[in-house]
Amino acid sequence: MEKILRGILKYKANAQGNFLVRWANKAEKLPVKPPILFVSCIDSRILPTHFCQTSPGDMFILRNAGNVLPRANYSEGEPTQLSCEVVALEITCNRSKVEHVVICGHSDCQALYAAYKHYTEEEETSAPLKRVSEIIHGWCRTHGVEASLNKVQDTSNRTSKGAAFKFNIGSTPQEVFIDPKNEMALLDKLSQVNVLQQLEHLSSYRSISKRVDSGQLSVHGMWYDVSEDKIYWFSRQRKGFIEICADTIEEIIASCKRTVRPEEEQGDLGFKKPESVGTAIE
Ligand SMILES: [Zn+2]
Repeated sequence: MEKILRGILKYKANAQGNFLVRWANKAEKLPVKPPILFVSCIDSRILPTHFCQTSPGDMFILRNAGNVLPRANYSEGEPTQLSCEVVALEITCNRSKVEHVVICGHSDCQALYAAYKHYTEEEETSAPLKRVSEIIHGWCRTHGVEASLNKVQDTSNRTSKGAAFKFNIGSTPQEVFIDPKNEMALLDKLSQVNVLQQLEHLSSYRSISKRVDSGQLSVHGMWYDVSEDKIYWFSRQRKGFIEICADTIEEIIASCKRTVRPEEEQGDLGFKKPESVGTAIE
């Protein structure tokens, strides 16, 4: 704790003055509406504001274990629970109308490792461990980690371009090839597949899918390689992840330019509410 408490003193001495002036001017003129929602893992090595070099006010950030989002109506007839992720989507995508959502996964993800262990190790027997397993199991089911695991362990989809997958992102199925050189660890392949699974989950919300299809909202996948300190971008054109570097940056920026069609009336977030919940969102 001493490190972060002394850090606050350093911040007050070195950085706060500039920040306060800039923010005060901005706040007088504009409501604070960042155009980006960035979703990342809680892993302490993943600092989006650091590797994207952003400033306060540039983007919303949602962090959780495994950079996941629950699927709307994640199983037939079963309501989506009102989790903090759903509320974050409501505030950022529905009310603030962000223009981009970025889902950022990373290598060596311990949340995904916990999921992998849960499905591959023998059943736990002692009560506390069983309870933890139930938590992991529920999270895997509602947030698509189980689906990602099933996809990545299916070896029947291997092609000369890498393992082939299909994801429904927006209204168009997207073909993707993961690990073309067949050299990644299973956990890291799982992490890349899981990023795309979360883009599919985003599209399962009715209002988000409408905004994606009309060009109002773009959804993107990113992946951070912790050991190499390299950042990769999911390229629809290339059907896979490519490194963000001087050679690719213009191509990636061009692919992010939006073509916006007339906006349709947006409704609610588009998930089925539990019967016991009030009518605020649905
Ligand atoms: Zn992680």
